[in-house]
Formats: sequence, structure tokens, C-alpha cells
Amino acid sequence: MSAKQEFIDSIKSGKVLARKCKNCGELHLATIYFCQKCGHKEFENTEIDGHGAVATYTIITVPPAGFEKYTPYAWVILSLDDSDLRISGFMANIAIPSDLLVGTKAKIVGYDDRGIILEKQ
Ligand SMILES: [Zn+2]
Repeated sequence: MSAKQEFIDSIKSGKVLARKCKNCGELHLATIYFCQKCGHKEFENTEIDGHGAVATYTIITVPPAGFEKYTPYAWVILSLDDSDLRISGFMANIAIPSDLLVGTKAKIVGYDDRGIILEKQ
């Protein structure tokens, strides 16, 4: 199984697959070869709970091709509760800033052609 597919399978179960440095414990999202903190080269997979808080977002009213049927929506940066990691994903039915306040609790609920799907908790 590819790293990308492993990541998607993890997302579909509401979790984020991360690479944890065996030396210092630093977590990384992408496939990497050296720890960004200590330069160590050995990692283990770890799954992080997909709950977090909205760090920032962009409301999309003029969507890219193929996404017209989904508008309005927001592209959200979610700061995960259990780590310093941030992931970005799709949140439906966000039209104006009062629909989604920064700091709102949200969680990963799936993955499809839109990418990571988020919903308010
Ligand atoms: Zn490290």
C-alpha cells in the first residue's frame, strides 16, 4: 500500500496518520527522510485523533472547476488537539464568516474527491 493510500485510509477512519521520529518524538505529516527537528532518519507510524479547532479558513464562493455544486464551502485549516500538526480540509455550507468562528471545534469525517472532509463537532 502506498503512503498516500495509508494516509487516506486513516483519514476515512477519522484519524491522521503521522510519522513520529524515533529519536525525539517530533511528528510529521508528509513522507520525509530526515526529522525536521533533530535530523534522525528513523520513524514509526502513529495515528492522531482527527479532532481539533479551526485555526483559519477561506470561504470559497467562486469554486474551481468541478466544485460548483459544493458552494458555498470553506477551506479550513484545522489545528489538531493532540499534536502541533495542522491539516486542511473541506467544510460544507459555510457562506459567511459568522457561519464559522475561528476556534470552532471540528473533526475529520471522511475523504473523497474534495480532499479531507471536516464537520463541526
Ligand atoms: Zn527527531
